[in-house]
Amino acid sequence: MVEVIGFGLAGACVALQLQRAGHRVRVVDDGGEGSSRVAAGLVNPVAGKNFEPSWEVKEAWEIALPFYEGLGSGLFHALPVLRLWRDEKDREKFERKWEQLTPWIQKVDEEGVTWKGGGWLDCPGFLDVAREEFLSSGGEWETMPQGGRQIWCAGASGLIRGDFNNVVHRSAKGEILTVRIPGWGEKQILNRNGWVIPIGNDLYRVGATYEWDRLASGPTEEGRAKVEALLRSFTDRAYEVVDHVAGIRPIIERSKPVVRFQEGKGWMVNGLGSKGVIYAPRVGLEMVARLESEV
Ligand SMILES: Cc1cc2nc3c(=O)[nH]c(=O)nc-3n(C[C@H](O)[C@H](O)[C@H](O)COP(=O)(O)OP(=O)(O)OC[C@H]3O[C@@H](n4cnc5c(N)ncnc54)[C@H](O)[C@@H]3O)c2cc1C
Repeated sequence: MVEVIGFGLAGACVALQLQRAGHRVRVVDDGGEGSSRVAAGLVNPVAGKNFEPSWEVKEAWEIALPFYEGLGSGLFHALPVLRLWRDEKDREKFERKWEQLTPWIQKVDEEGVTWKGGGWLDCPGFLDVAREEFLSSGGEWETMPQGGRQIWCAGASGLIRGDFNNVVHRSAKGEILTVRIPGWGEKQILNRNGWVIPIGNDLYRVGATYEWDRLASGPTEEGRAKVEALLRSFTDRAYEVVDHVAGIRPIIERSKPVVRFQEGKGWMVNGLGSKGVIYAPRVGLEMVARLESEV
């Protein structure tokens, strides 16, 4: 029996893939506020201000997309991502990297560059569907560890507690708003400093803040004001805030996912950073391979 502790994006992918590979699996989740329940689910192949493709994004996404699509048709919503120019220098920076970015370019115009291969995953929906598949395929579910071979997928709370030795983390709190903007009709994801994701019915997700020093849980007035200012940089239409959430991104070293073993403790799968949707299915497969090569 393998015990997977934590059922966010990491734990869900590890548990399902272990089960599909024929292992008996028990999930232990304490029902805490994991970041996967608040994540906007954005997939942006070229995120960040320097036009750098996300680390091994092509390889990771080739595994992730069929994994999500195989679980249900309404989970992943493919959408173009319009990266708006910040200024002339920004545009020149892009032009120097144009060739390297060709696989993701849909078009380039006066407004910005439109990436293909992006979209958003309904993260809470994914967790619900993953749990259903896990349980209906014979998986066990507990709220307290029972013992056995353990794989810790505890996200930022595990990093903050220091579950594993010598793991240096720079976890970052983030806040997101869901807003209603009647009649705007924006159909693509907009990105510049932050992002706006159209999720249907005049609703948009807007985010996100980054806060490294104050990780106390919960949304704040300051966070809300920052996200509202971001929204204002994309549109001056009237809006109504319908939801405001916060979570902590589990970030280790250079924002790359980490699979590690510690004697007497077990395995750790963590560090999905701000791109858990892209990396979780591949890191799940890596965990299966590592477990199966254990002596
Ligand atoms: C505001 C915000 C916006 C984000 N937006 C995006 C986005 O648009 N796209 C994207 O790809 N990523 C995004 N992310 C990042 C994404 O949320 C993370 O990469 C991902 O959710 C991390 O998943 P995880 O499974 O490692 O951790 P978590 O989702 O935190 O899951 C850990 C689970 O373990 C449980 N747990 C912890 N300790 C124990 C214990 N001792 N016993 C039992 N259970 C335990 C917790 O309750 C939780 O359920 C965002 C994050 C934040 C905070």
